[in-house]
Amino acid sequence: MDFAERVEDVRRRVEVACRRAGREPAAVTIVAVSKTFGPEEVRQAADCGLNVLGESKVQEAAQKIPLCPGQLEWHMVGHLQRNKVGLAVKLFKRIHSVDSARLLEAVNAACREEGCVMPVLIEVNVSGERSKFGLPPAEVPALLEQSSRLMNVSVAGLMTVPPFEPEPEAARPFFRRLRECRDAWRASTGFELPELSMGMSHDFEVAIEEGATWVRIGTAIFGSRPPRRPAADEGEGP
Ligand SMILES: *Cc1c(COP(=O)(O)O)cnc(C)c1O
Repeated sequence: MDFAERVEDVRRRVEVACRRAGREPAAVTIVAVSKTFGPEEVRQAADCGLNVLGESKVQEAAQKIPLCPGQLEWHMVGHLQRNKVGLAVKLFKRIHSVDSARLLEAVNAACREEGCVMPVLIEVNVSGERSKFGLPPAEVPALLEQSSRLMNVSVAGLMTVPPFEPEPEAARPFFRRLRECRDAWRASTGFELPELSMGMSHDFEVAIEEGATWVRIGTAIFGSRPPRRPAADEGEGP
């Protein structure tokens, strides 16, 4: 498959999954995760009508974004370090990966300086100790409470990365758990939390069936990534 065919294939699979779940395809946004790929591939994605792009490293995004078409909306999907927040809020329209009170405070402070309000998602570790990042579910209601005192961030929803299992169905309990947490917190805190960022190339159909509104898709669109050594000072690897 060439680039356009891969995008077509992903779109069709999104639609089929939506139909299966009785959901509108318009309720699901593809975040095309372009990490490790350059401006040329990003332009191809844009030519296919993908206008929401995701990156997982601030430094890489800072080099790439100025070379890419201007109309694109960029989302930070990877682990965010506090010392990169100042740059991140300049580059990104959304941050999917807020996983601590200190990080939320730092994003708020940076956005106050920037004069913007950042919609963020809280990354939840629904699998317990099996995954590195994300806040334990028990700590989320307090973070929501805290966010209502911060004027330059708004919590738009929740995000999760389940532990990797080759079988996509294995991710379903984690996606379902995130949605159930959202429903419970919506009732207990009054936060709507409309966005659920969950599902990647190999399990996005399952995530859509469980209520994903943003699916973060890299490989299925851009092809497989070259292996790279994890940089010592950055977060999540490829
Ligand atoms: C890389 C990455 C993705 C996309 O992964 P694929 O398996 O290539 O679709 C999604 N979310 C996060 C947080 C990532 O780092």
